[in-house]
Amino acid sequence: MTETSETSETSETSVSTTDLVILGGGSGGYACALRAAQLGLSVVLVEKDKLGGTCLHRGCIPTKALLQASEVADAARNGHQFGVKSTLEGIDMGGVNKYKDGVVAKMFKGLQGLVASRGISYVEGSGKFVAPNAVDVDVDGQRYTGRSIVLATGSYAKSLPDLEIGGRFITSDQALNLDYVPDRVVVLGGGVIGVEFASVWRSFGAEVTVVEALPRLVPAEDDFCSKQLERAFRRRGITSKTGVRFTGATQSDSGVTVSLESGEQLEADLLLVAVGRGPNTADAGYAEAGVAMDRGFVLTDNRLRTNLAGVYALGDIVPGLQLAHRGFAQGIFLAEDIAGRTPAPIDEDGIPRVTYCEPQVASVGLTEALAKDRHGDIETIIYDLAGNGRSQILQTKGAIKLVRAKNGPVVGVHMVGDRVGELVGEAQLIVNWDAYPDDVAALVHAHPTQNEALGEAHLALAGKPLHAHG
Ligand SMILES: Cc1cc2nc3c(=O)[nH]c(=O)nc-3n(C[C@H](O)[C@H](O)[C@H](O)COP(=O)(O)OP(=O)(O)OC[C@H]3O[C@@H](n4cnc5c(N)ncnc54)[C@H](O)[C@@H]3O)c2cc1C
Repeated sequence: MTETSETSETSETSVSTTDLVILGGGSGGYACALRAAQLGLSVVLVEKDKLGGTCLHRGCIPTKALLQASEVADAARNGHQFGVKSTLEGIDMGGVNKYKDGVVAKMFKGLQGLVASRGISYVEGSGKFVAPNAVDVDVDGQRYTGRSIVLATGSYAKSLPDLEIGGRFITSDQALNLDYVPDRVVVLGGGVIGVEFASVWRSFGAEVTVVEALPRLVPAEDDFCSKQLERAFRRRGITSKTGVRFTGATQSDSGVTVSLESGEQLEADLLLVAVGRGPNTADAGYAEAGVAMDRGFVLTDNRLRTNLAGVYALGDIVPGLQLAHRGFAQGIFLAEDIAGRTPAPIDEDGIPRVTYCEPQVASVGLTEALAKDRHGDIETIIYDLAGNGRSQILQTKGAIKLVRAKNGPVVGVHMVGDRVGELVGEAQLIVNWDAYPDDVAALVHAHPTQNEALGEAHLALAGKPLHAHG
């Protein structure tokens, strides 16, 4: 492994050869760079916008800051439930944005310092993959050659045909920076991003309608989660229109009109288009250089190798869950693989998923439907959070569903309720370590925690329920 880069000059461009060139400095790209540098590889990291990518600047972190502000708003509004005299006077979006931007700025600074301290060559500019070992960067006109190349250019917010983003038609990119709270919003798309924004705006006082073409909200989750969430949203006054197609929208100075296949028209101030994320691969030269692709996504094997020798891909451009921690894990995996450490491939089924709306949805492993396909005979149990002390203290409703292969290990954990995202750490150990209900039932959980609910659910699945009714 070389630790230094050699540089030579050609007549037109200068050429640097390094162990690893990474195109894109988002969650996956920078994690790969940090781990590779730690393992002694020389690394060039090319980023055209901001180090940290979608997650830090337009995704996970700013949305979770908005959700935190919305939790504070709900706490102020609902103080009476706890005997606390509080009222919600209103939302100061200037203040909310200042808090959110402060969190992002602090993490951005920390990340920049980390990358600089690891001896990574950070190149600002738009890169183009021009050959299996080369990336050209527009700003400095340099060609960076690497013994290995990792493609990590991430994703963008998609829209629908004939629905051009602009004005009152927005995506999450604009929604994150609104300087006012809309009175009425239509959210097109009931997936993770759609329901998170629906939740924020409702807590901030808006009337919210979520339109989803599939029959249920969070359609990638077990349908138990969808039912729980839809019920909770109804209680919160969020309208969900599922199984209904959007047919068009118009906008004027005063608002938007959204038309549905049912003939219904919805009036609102804004239309949030949250219909998924497309891979950022069109302008980066991949197809031209011969990378095998499918509908814009880069195809890889389970070791993240593309069809070209020495060229790998990770994160949102590779089909699968579009989550930051998947990208981080893939980045670390690739760095170790390229450094010759032969890590085990990542088990995609074992990646935890959290939707941070109120109430939260958290899961890991197989849904009931998938478990039936894979294991045939299965068993499930639903444990209601009504039996859990901490959940009652929080005044949250919700439940935990476990799925196990018949007489086998737990293969899926699905949870809905306040703060259940924090339980996914235990859930992922259970699923990824192939635990049996008896294994978990034997573990003592601290009281009163919500983790106890996981313990109790496993007690029930092991045939010895304690605080379970009915
Ligand atoms: C609103 C929202 C909320 C989200 N919330 C969560 C969450 O709570 N939890 C979670 O796990 N995930 C969340 N995600 C998803 C998460 O942000 C992504 O899965 C993750 O950022 C993907 O990482 P990546 O490295 O593949 O790509 P990205 O983070 O998109 O990074 C790709 C980088 O490549 C750069 N780039 C692109 N083309 C070029 C080029 N030609 N040259 C140089 N640089 C280039 C881009 O500027 C970008 O910085 C959220 C996403 C959104 C939009």
